[in-house]
Amino acid sequence: MIVVMKKNAGSDQVQHVVALIESMNLKSHVIVGTERTVVAAVGDDRKQAKASLESAPGVAEVVPILAPYKMASRELRPEPTQVVAGGLRVGGGHCGVIAGPCSVETEEQILSAARAVKAAGATALRGGAFKPRTSPYSFQGLKEVGLKLMAMARDETGLAVVTEVMSTEDVELVARYADVLQVGARNMQNYRLLEAVGKTDRAILLKRGPSATLEELLLAAEYILDAGNPRVMLCERGIRTFESHTRFTLPLATVTYLHEKTHLPVVIDPSHGTGHAWMVPDMAVAAVAIAADGIIVEVHPQPERALSDGYQSLTYDQFSQMMARCRRVAAAVGVEL
Ligand code: PEP
Ligand code: MN
Repeated sequence: MIVVMKKNAGSDQVQHVVALIESMNLKSHVIVGTERTVVAAVGDDRKQAKASLESAPGVAEVVPILAPYKMASRELRPEPTQVVAGGLRVGGGHCGVIAGPCSVETEEQILSAARAVKAAGATALRGGAFKPRTSPYSFQGLKEVGLKLMAMARDETGLAVVTEVMSTEDVELVARYADVLQVGARNMQNYRLLEAVGKTDRAILLKRGPSATLEELLLAAEYILDAGNPRVMLCERGIRTFESHTRFTLPLATVTYLHEKTHLPVVIDPSHGTGHAWMVPDMAVAAVAIAADGIIVEVHPQPERALSDGYQSLTYDQFSQMMARCRRVAAAVGVEL
């Protein structure tokens, strides 16, 4: 339920509503909007709860949230949420650019990539230290050594660090180094992991599972929000279909759909979404054109030598040309990049 407070409601009246909600064993979340304050009451609500909240002082109305995802729903918060992490701004009219290699490989590689993507206009550096690989024989990532190298790159360039956390036992370690914790596609429905990252104070990039519906993605985000972390970014990275010309099928309509249903920002990953470097720039430009809130792009100093995902990684030149195109489109559609 959403308890909409009257415009002139005082903070004591808001606090009273919060106490009333909690006494009903529901969770309360106060959202201070530009127009008025609303209090979300989330949990197993009953008719009686609605009636008693309606009669509390300062309450204008109590409306049910129809979507199964409550906190993520646009019904709860009509204004878009902007997620800020260091210099990265995603959402609310700002398209954030996250770029870097698939995996952190060496000090030289990550520092060079960080300098290059920064010079081309990125505000965050991506790079996996814990890598979810289809085969156990593929490169698994440098783990803590990789995290340290990412932090070193942040110290030098000021870029925010975006890196994946694969399991609950690594959350504390990864959160020590990262500005943004990435929950990968394979872990979108790892509910214990979602709860664990929801308890941290780091922003979260939640990637869509390749066979998950958008409702399942939003319910996964709900776990993080419900655990107390409001800084969630959703990421479309492509889904499994019968098409085999691209690694995955990248539905850009996800941006339009999610903008209607949720206040959370939506990031497009054209690298995993297409699986081919030559297709990435067009999809990134298209994402900017439809007002995606961010893009995450794989860039490598020598893609043919990359230890993971080289075939879908851009060279520095390709990335900087892509950024020039994105800037022109952003200016045309009134998006900050
Ligand atoms: C990645 O970002 O390198 C990655 C493994 O992505 P996904 O979880 O979307 O496959
Ligand atoms: Mn990758």
